[in-house]
Amino acid sequence: MHREYDVAVVGGGLLGSAIAWGLGRLGKRVAVLDEGDIAKRASRANFALVWVQSKGLGMPAYTVWTVRASQAWPSLAAELKDQTGLDVCLQQNGGFHLTLGEDEYEQRTQLVTRMHNQAGAADYKMEMLPASEVKKMLPLIGPEVSGGSFCPFDGHVNSLRTFRAFHTGLKAFGIDYFPERPVSAITKSGSEFRLTTPQGEIRAHKIVLAAGNANQTLAPMVGLLAPMGPTRGQIVVTERTMPFLPHPLTTIRQTDEGTVMIGDSKEDELDERALKHSISAVMADRAQRLFPHLARLNVVRSWAGIRVMPKDGFPIYDQSETHPGAFVACCHSGVTLASNHAFEVARMVASGALEPELVGAFSARRFGGEGAANNSGY
Ligand SMILES: Cc1cc2nc3c(=O)[nH]c(=O)nc-3n(C[C@H](O)[C@H](O)[C@H](O)COP(=O)(O)OP(=O)(O)OC[C@H]3O[C@@H](n4cnc5c(N)ncnc54)[C@H](O)[C@@H]3O)c2cc1C
Repeated sequence: MHREYDVAVVGGGLLGSAIAWGLGRLGKRVAVLDEGDIAKRASRANFALVWVQSKGLGMPAYTVWTVRASQAWPSLAAELKDQTGLDVCLQQNGGFHLTLGEDEYEQRTQLVTRMHNQAGAADYKMEMLPASEVKKMLPLIGPEVSGGSFCPFDGHVNSLRTFRAFHTGLKAFGIDYFPERPVSAITKSGSEFRLTTPQGEIRAHKIVLAAGNANQTLAPMVGLLAPMGPTRGQIVVTERTMPFLPHPLTTIRQTDEGTVMIGDSKEDELDERALKHSISAVMADRAQRLFPHLARLNVVRSWAGIRVMPKDGFPIYDQSETHPGAFVACCHSGVTLASNHAFEVARMVASGALEPELVGAFSARRFGGEGAANNSGY
């Protein structure tokens, strides 16, 4: 353990660990301060998609950022495997959002058109396919499927293994990971930040606030803003079955181990310990209308998780004007954006400044001091 660090990262979820890993890769002395085992962590509850289609309606810069992340994911997976021996099982051969009935097909077509009409978005090649075309790629779809949208950049990963690979990598880089160290106060003395934890103070020249929804409370301590509007998501997992789904869907994917994950709802309720069977029932019903053979599978697990969700649905990356060296990072889609956090955000933090051409659109200054309603369409 060092007495003083180049960077202290607050939060050891997917964002904090990806950024810390990226900093370790650049030779920085880093401490990661985290809460205990029972902390709420979106990083242990997510659906594991590396997803591009439909991201960025209302903010074209988010499409650009997401496409960049998708393109950098193979390098991240390869580096993690080289360093830790852990295969994160990245599959990136395109993904679907399937529709049931003509109304849903029409609504999805309109969304694709609105996305395509946005000036300044990256070309993410999302297209509508009729059921006959979908059936060639997903032969087991049911008769109610009217078609769907397809994007070749979409994919998925084993996100728990990714999380483990980052933490294994942190150790290999000599990064100090401190669980049970919730940060309750941050002050700055000269060029040094001091972070108060129950086990004493940690000092660092820079800090990155990556504490998920708790950034809302921590950011104002260093002159930053992170208005959040968390939502809850529920996921159902079936027993293992034969490989049947060569492409992930927004709400169904087959894991590398053969189980089928069905999700994910969006609820205002913020208790992650209670499952609502009425919600699981709707998700399961829809899944078996998309793929009728799923009706024969047993459900083996189900959970709820709280999404890290900036108020308008888009990421927040910012640096403090009043406390130079303090950064904040939070977003939904921390799986998708992990490669950007490990490579780009870590590089920018190490250099001491966020690059406006890459992340300027994501400054919390867009909220004008207040939170905005969620309009991301995610
Ligand atoms: C149901 C569901 C489905 C999802 N599906 C996808 C998907 O398919 N694809 C995708 O890309 N993303 C998905 N996500 C989103 C993704 O999981 C999150 O964006 C990501 O996990 C956020 O990581 P994080 O590190 O910011 O947050 P978290 O995992 O919540 O971690 C925050 C960490 O900060 C710590 N912390 C909090 N306060 C303090 C403090 N004061 N001091 C120290 N530490 C503190 C906590 O203990 C925690 O470890 C999904 C999320 C959910 C819930």
